Amino acid sequence: MNTATEPIHLMNNYARWPISLVKGQGNQVWDDQGKQYLDFTSGIAVTSLGHVPPKVTAKLHQQLDTLWHCSNLFHIPQQAVLSEKLSKLSGLDSAFFCNSGAEANEALIKIARRYAQKVKGTGRFEIITFSQSFHGRTLATLTATGQDKVKDGFAPLPTGFVTVPYNDLAAVEAAITDNTCGIMLELVQGEGGVHPAEEAWVQGLRKLCDEHGLLLLVDEIQTGIGRTGTWFAFQQYGVKPDAISLAKGLGSGFPIGAIVATSEVAQAFAPGTHGTTFGGNPLAMTAGIATLETMEEEHILERVGQIEKQLLAGLHKLQADHPTKVVAVRGKGLLVGVELAIPSADVISFAREQSVILLSAGPNVLRLLPSFITTQAEIDQVISVIDKALTQ
Ligand SMILES: *Cc1c(COP(=O)(O)O)cnc(C)c1O
Repeated sequence: MNTATEPIHLMNNYARWPISLVKGQGNQVWDDQGKQYLDFTSGIAVTSLGHVPPKVTAKLHQQLDTLWHCSNLFHIPQQAVLSEKLSKLSGLDSAFFCNSGAEANEALIKIARRYAQKVKGTGRFEIITFSQSFHGRTLATLTATGQDKVKDGFAPLPTGFVTVPYNDLAAVEAAITDNTCGIMLELVQGEGGVHPAEEAWVQGLRKLCDEHGLLLLVDEIQTGIGRTGTWFAFQQYGVKPDAISLAKGLGSGFPIGAIVATSEVAQAFAPGTHGTTFGGNPLAMTAGIATLETMEEEHILERVGQIEKQLLAGLHKLQADHPTKVVAVRGKGLLVGVELAIPSADVISFAREQSVILLSAGPNVLRLLPSFITTQAEIDQVISVIDKALTQ
């Protein structure tokens, strides 16, 4: 294995593995020593169609030769196409495009406040969020995040967020005040341990929002774009949010973020109220359009369902074979958590030696995020590696 270290002129804010990846194709990646790995993380829920997916790559090549950047002083035709697609798929009405997940959640928070204050004419600003959530690393989004580790050393934090336990309706009800303008949540908490929301709870949240005039804001940055087996996770809960945020899987690896809201909420972003230089640029829009087109043409949601079944079959066998070490298997679609009685880091480093890249979600949970083109053979390879790691 190569022993890559952090370059001395680079900030040391990532605890990196001693590997430099230089090439990817499908579910395989290669390091600078020529060693090949199976990527069972999809670059953390990003490369859902595999690395360098051919159709998206071809469209990006065309766009690279045509126009890279265009400011939002002009109409950008690809924004019309992608927003229409997202609207059709989500049942929501209007999109705003930005460049990352945190930036999408910033927009979600800003539109919720502005809707309360300028459209509804109230003084409301507070957003209820949840323990173990993850919403990003900007000041507002790390404040919304229900994990102390991301807040350490960044005081003073913005006000206007209150964090309550997940899957607990009474706690939410008790936290609603005259200042509350919205409730913001992930439907499967990804980073925080792969915890799915309960259906009755989410329906209860929708009801509370309707009764109290609050917005239901769903962070679909990790769960969206097919990851949980439907285009968006909320479609499995029988509720319609007022607005959602998207990023990770939307561009197949090209940086992109978005929010999509009802037309009612979208009124809050009038000209001049919010914006970004790069957001919605022709390259990112092309990546987003090509990603969604490919997923539609290749009936990718059906494949997600099939791969999920194959993966769960393997994991349940693993659980039966290692009943004391595999505590739980949970998640939705291809966002799967395997809770272990041993440190997840031990399994991850063993797997890496066996040329399989896995991810954690906390100290005892493996987070499996295979691509939507994963084969039975690749699943077998991963199950066998985890089996060996647990047998040691
Ligand atoms: C990754 C993630 C974010 C942050 O996205 P960035 O692009 O890293 O800023 C926010 N929310 C959820 C649920 C995420 O998984």
